[in-house]
Amino acid sequence: MEQIKNYLNYIKDIINGEEYLSDRDKFSIILHICAVSHFLFAILFLAFGSIILMLYNLLSFLVYESMVSLAKNKHFKLIVFAICVEVNLFVFLTSLAYGHELGFNLFCFLLIPASFYITYTAKNYKHPFLVSALISSIAMGMFIFSIFYPGGSFDELVIDHPKLVSFSMVVNIFITCFLLSIFSFMFTIEMRNSTTTLENRTKQLKQLSSVDPLTKLANRRSMMEKLNIAMHLLKKDKKIFSIVMGDIDDFKKVNDTYGHDAGDKVLVMVAETISSQLRDGDYVSRWGGEEILILVNGNLEAAKSLSERILNKLNQSEVIYENRPVKVTMTFGVAQANESFRIEDFIQQADNRLYYGKTHGKNQVVAEIPNSVNI
Ligand code: GH3
Ligand code: MG
Ligand code: MG
Repeated sequence: MEQIKNYLNYIKDIINGEEYLSDRDKFSIILHICAVSHFLFAILFLAFGSIILMLYNLLSFLVYESMVSLAKNKHFKLIVFAICVEVNLFVFLTSLAYGHELGFNLFCFLLIPASFYITYTAKNYKHPFLVSALISSIAMGMFIFSIFYPGGSFDELVIDHPKLVSFSMVVNIFITCFLLSIFSFMFTIEMRNSTTTLENRTKQLKQLSSVDPLTKLANRRSMMEKLNIAMHLLKKDKKIFSIVMGDIDDFKKVNDTYGHDAGDKVLVMVAETISSQLRDGDYVSRWGGEEILILVNGNLEAAKSLSERILNKLNQSEVIYENRPVKVTMTFGVAQANESFRIEDFIQQADNRLYYGKTHGKNQVVAEIPNSVNI
């Protein structure tokens, strides 16, 4: 009971795209379906009084069920070969016995989508098209044989079991259509699941390629993308923006005094402090080693006041490393974007202001360099 429940949950997860149909499960399902179909046929042929075909189908039922262990050991090519031989043999024998009117030859058609589905989705086929084309050709050959083979005792069967003959035709059409739907369904689910996997992997990769692993801030590459977009919006919609270039003061000393790990901890703390002060539309990145670049959704004044907020907050913050408090300050250079400037130009402008701050006492925000100073 518990196993059936697990199985149903597994199917539900596959349908919802939360689980993937493994090759093993795929082959096991196909083999079980083949086995059950042959069990039904065994009963049908028993009713027709054909002991040989009844035994053939019982044997097929047992063979298919025992082949499930082959699926568990991943002998997929052997299974495909066995199914092809068996289906063709089955159509051949039933055609010899009763001609084609009972509709057992419909199973030839099933081999076409089944072979393409299996060879293209199972992973160990080098030439799936050739294999499927070969299987399909043999199946079609067998279908043509069944149509033109003149023998069989169909007429006697109609006289002896008229209702059973109609029933058998309906059952064959039903099973063929049912199996076709199952293959189409499995194929669709697999296609959808692989598309979802691909989309998720692309998202993960994008995330990995745009985030700095230590500080979890955006990296330089993704900041450049944002800056290009911001520049475009400035030209198109006159949407003002500014940038802040920040650099931790005397960070080398932190590393030298407390060690590189302490330095890393400080970097994370600085990143968190800055992020906590941002407003809607602001965007922060780790521009270089201990350099931070912020894109501010606003003019120079807004960027300046953001930098001052960060500086204040930073002055109240510390990292405890091996029971010792580690404090840092930062210097910021601020610049407002200008339509006639290139991105590189006003990054340079912010950098110059930062440099001015570094050479004039550090721990400050510089939004303007006095006229008398040339950098
Ligand atoms: P200034 O005030 O002039 O900026 O001095 P500074 O010592 O901060 O500047 P400098 O450029 O001389 O040194 C930056 C240091 O930052 C050197 C480098 O080892 C350190 N650093 C860069 N990236 C990392 C990092 O990821 N982790 C750690 N712990 N240190 C880093
Ligand atoms: Mg520094
Ligand atoms: Mg630096």
